[in-house]
Amino acid sequence: MIIVMKPDATKKDIDHVLERIESVGLKGVLLQGTSRNVIAVIGDERVVPADFWDVLPGVEKSVPILAPYKLASKEGKDFKTVIHLGNGKKIGGEQIAVIAGPCAIESKEQIVEIAKRVRDAGATALRGGAFKPRSNPYTFQGLQEEGLVHLARAREASGLPIVTEVLTPEHVKLVSKYSDILQVGTRNMQNFLLLRAVGEAGKPVILKRGMSATIEEFLLAAEYILAQNNPNVILCERGIRTFETHTRFTLSLSVVPQLKEMTHLPIIVDPSHGTGKRSLVNPMCKGAVAVGADGLLVETHPDPERSFVDGPQTINLEAFDCLMQELKPVAEAVGRRM
Ligand code: PEP
Ligand code: MN
Repeated sequence: MIIVMKPDATKKDIDHVLERIESVGLKGVLLQGTSRNVIAVIGDERVVPADFWDVLPGVEKSVPILAPYKLASKEGKDFKTVIHLGNGKKIGGEQIAVIAGPCAIESKEQIVEIAKRVRDAGATALRGGAFKPRSNPYTFQGLQEEGLVHLARAREASGLPIVTEVLTPEHVKLVSKYSDILQVGTRNMQNFLLLRAVGEAGKPVILKRGMSATIEEFLLAAEYILAQNNPNVILCERGIRTFETHTRFTLSLSVVPQLKEMTHLPIIVDPSHGTGKRSLVNPMCKGAVAVGADGLLVETHPDPERSFVDGPQTINLEAFDCLMQELKPVAEAVGRRM
C-alpha cells in the first residue's frame, strides 16, 4: 500500500500518518518527492479497513501495490529517484554519471593520478577496489584499509566523490568512514545481512546485479536496502552468465529499458565486467547510454597491461578521454548530456 499525500500536506500530517501506521503494527517509509510525498506501508495491511488511511488529514489517496518490491516499484513513486553526491554531482539526473577508475587501488600515486585524469575528462566519481572479491584466493585481495586511505587521498586531490566495494557486514562501518558511495558486488547481491547493513549505513549504494539473478531478484535485493529507510540505491547491470564464453559475461542491455518500466531507481551499466574485453567497452558504453542508462562504470588505468586486476577489460586514460568525447552525441540524441 502507498499513501499519497496532498501537495500541501504538512510535516504534522505526515508524522501523524506515520504514527497511525506504527500504531497498528505496520512500518511506514517516507518517499520524499519534489512536488509531493508518498508513504509506503509495509506489512500485512489487512489489519485495518481499506478506507482507514483516506480519512487522515493531508492524505489524498491510498493505492494498493501489487509488486513484491514495494519501495522500488514505480507503482508507488512515478518520479525518478535522483541521488545527490555533494559537489553538485548527481546520479539519475539529465547528465550521464560516469564512475571511472581502476579495478583495484594499487598505490597512492596510482589512484591520485587516475583521479585527476578522469576528473579532467569529465567523470562524476572515482572508483577503486580496496577489498577485492577474487574468485581465486591466491590472487591479489586488495590493499584493504590502506587502499581506503589512498582512495580518500585521491578524493581530496581531485574533488571527486569516491566509490568502493564492501564485502561483509562487519566492514560496513570501516568502509563508510572513507567512501561516499558503497558498492555491493555481484557475488553479494543476495547477501541479505550485507544489504541490511549498507541500508542502515545511510550512504548511497551501488547494487550490482547478481550474475545469475533475475530482474525480480535484483529489485528484491534493492528492496532490502530501501526498507532500511535508505532511498539512495543505484542499480548496476554488469553482465550475466549465459552459455556464451566469447565474452566474460553477457551484458544485458535490454534490462535497462525493462527496469525503467518497473522502477524509479537510477540504473547504470558496467561494460568492463559485462564484457571482460577492452575493445568492447567503448561500443557497449554507447549502447548503454542509447538505451537509457543513467550512468556508466568503467575500469580505467594508466597502464592496463600492468593492472593488478582485470587488465584485459581495462581501458587506458587516453581511451577514456576519447570515450567521454564520443559519448556526447549519443547522450544528446536521447535527450541527455555528458
Ligand atoms: C568491481 O566492480 O570491482 C567488481 C568486482 O564487480 P562485480 O561485482 O560486478 O564483479
Ligand atoms: Mn574489476
